[in-house]
Amino acid sequence: MSEIGEISPGIGTGVREAAEVEPFADILVRHGLSLVRDRVHTLQVNTGYLCNLRCRHCHLEAGPGRKEIMSRETMAAIVSFARRFPFQVIDITGGAPELVPDLPFLVDGLAPLAPRLMLRTNLSAVSGAARESLLALCVAHRVVLVASFPSTNPSQADAQRGAGATETAIAVLKRLNTAGYGVEGTGLELDLVSNPVDAVLPVSQESAERKFRHDLLKKWGVAFNHLYTFANVPLGRFQTWLRRTGNYERYVKTVVEAFNPSAIEGLMCRTLLSVSWDGFLYDCDFNLAVGRSNGDRKVHVSDVRELPPPGAPIATGDYCYACTAGSGFT
Ligand code: SF4
Repeated sequence: MSEIGEISPGIGTGVREAAEVEPFADILVRHGLSLVRDRVHTLQVNTGYLCNLRCRHCHLEAGPGRKEIMSRETMAAIVSFARRFPFQVIDITGGAPELVPDLPFLVDGLAPLAPRLMLRTNLSAVSGAARESLLALCVAHRVVLVASFPSTNPSQADAQRGAGATETAIAVLKRLNTAGYGVEGTGLELDLVSNPVDAVLPVSQESAERKFRHDLLKKWGVAFNHLYTFANVPLGRFQTWLRRTGNYERYVKTVVEAFNPSAIEGLMCRTLLSVSWDGFLYDCDFNLAVGRSNGDRKVHVSDVRELPPPGAPIATGDYCYACTAGSGFT
């Protein structure tokens, strides 16, 4: 098995070849900026690339055929890491974390170690008894659920995620509401994440949240706490789709032209570390996707002696333009 499986080469060089883009490092210099760390408070744990869906915007090219999933041994190493270096937020993502057999072991281990434990879900990876037992675990640990839900228009959402995806997602959101998630006064937080369905930047988070809240309540009686909108990063399957549909150059031009110097300060990579399914550290999930570690060698969580201090450099590539477009990817 290769270290990052079937990942495509990324836009580190591809963007420049395709669209004569000013290197991301150069635009920072031109604006008198540097992208360096602040105090690290969040650990993102990528449990692997196995997923039941094959979404076209996925920068990791996750899908049903992927074999990379986190072992119990790696989970134990991450729990030990999080005990040695307390984080305010731990964010479990994938792929579809629900498909990783030892996920309950990871949740049980991490929940006491951070005030906020988040679990990403595509709302369709598990069903029946498996879903109910995971839900009970999440309720017991007050895990924050972060569900991907691209659009309140079923035909748009199904185009991104596959036929029938919206119907399944709505049924699961209703079940989560019944369990108290997203319902005021329960303390069980249910957040949604929406990525644009097409080759465009997201609309403002505020207006999207208003629309989603209105539509979900009116059409399906579903409630949630917060909506986050993110630009799609032109890596992996999204890059392949952009190229196949002739949208690649236009999309790259769009994110480059939308470069917002004031987004740098709030970028998530300033305060977050990302750990891969096999236990190695990266500056963010996009660096993880292209296998770009910080420094000349990968560092395993078991070998970490100190967290990167404020001012430490962050590994960047031209894909960073997707994070600094408009209001930024925070
Ligand atoms: S891709 Fe985004 S999060 Fe990652 S290093 Fe670049 S700006 Fe930071």
